[in-house]
Amino acid sequence: MEPIEQNINTLYRKQDIPDAALKEILETDIYDDLLFSLADKVRKEHYGTDIYLRGLIEFTNYCKNNCYYCGIRRDNIRLKRYRLSEEEILSCCEEGYRLGFRTFVLQGGEDPYYTDERICGIVANIRQKFPDCAITLSIGEKPRESYQAYFDAGADRYLLRHETASDEHYAKLHPLQMSLDDRKRCLFDLKAIGYQVGSGFMVGSPYQTTENLISDLRFLQQLSPDMIGIGPYIKHKDTPFRDKENGSLELTLRLVAILRLMFPYALIPATTALGSIHPQGRERGLKAGANVVMPNLSPVGVRELYKLYENKLCTGEEAAQCRSCLEQRIISAGYKAVTSRGDVIR
Ligand code: SAM
Repeated sequence: MEPIEQNINTLYRKQDIPDAALKEILETDIYDDLLFSLADKVRKEHYGTDIYLRGLIEFTNYCKNNCYYCGIRRDNIRLKRYRLSEEEILSCCEEGYRLGFRTFVLQGGEDPYYTDERICGIVANIRQKFPDCAITLSIGEKPRESYQAYFDAGADRYLLRHETASDEHYAKLHPLQMSLDDRKRCLFDLKAIGYQVGSGFMVGSPYQTTENLISDLRFLQQLSPDMIGIGPYIKHKDTPFRDKENGSLELTLRLVAILRLMFPYALIPATTALGSIHPQGRERGLKAGANVVMPNLSPVGVRELYKLYENKLCTGEEAAQCRSCLEQRIISAGYKAVTSRGDVIR
């Protein structure tokens, strides 16, 4: 057996491997088939062929942050901004519930309009109306007390990608006011409060090196999150990174598989970004070890406006269409779409 194959088998046996071995695996495509088939096997051992559906509600595209890569950054003055009212958010949940979703993911920019009081009100209302559903928030960096208040109001999960675990790389992707330390503090606060926590990073973001990716994997080992979301970086014409290359499908898939081997229990989505860079991106993500998809429940009228990057998928479809399209894709890849809450199995 070649040394790289031996290293992949070491990962498969859930043993840690040195950075140098991870680097070799990350930098060659020769063993992708082996990697994907082992990842698929590990996923099946933990979750069978179940793929969990989460209903995604993108409720505001206002953001006070200015991340260099993101289409809804504050300084993008070409973007028409929108916010959903509490009634609109609730009606998305109602439609989602009717379609069988038992997890709602409320995602948005960091929008000061949604004070803690407003967020708690929305969460409490959803909790009361849909007691059997999981409520996931993804609204960025907040003080610990705010996270606690949302949790007490009924939120159970929180998604906050660390974006990159290297301080130097973080500073190349974000303005000075933002720091990796703050982001990490948020993630550890969320865990301490009792949320199921999701983190992750973009693959192929500008200036990213293989060493950065290895730091990302090591940071995730330290955090031990329940969910891990990764997707390729995709450029947006109205950001400072408009001329940077997109991340690659192949490297993203390889990382999905590595994550599955390193974190067998994790909930790993086949992300919209993966589907946006390749027509079969999400199916291929599932086959490389992903076990979650997030159909869009946002009203069709605002979909186009939550444009983090170019050519974002599913901007024109009704919720029901989006759900059935994804279910077909799941079935065609050989898996089963499941609408239960889909909590992590540790
Ligand atoms: N504001 C919240 C936060 O910061 O976590 C949630 C919204 S934020 C837009 C969601 C994620 O979109 C980010 O964590 C980032 O990884 C991803 N994203 C932003 N711009 C992107 C791009 N150009 N390509 C791919 N992913 C991008």
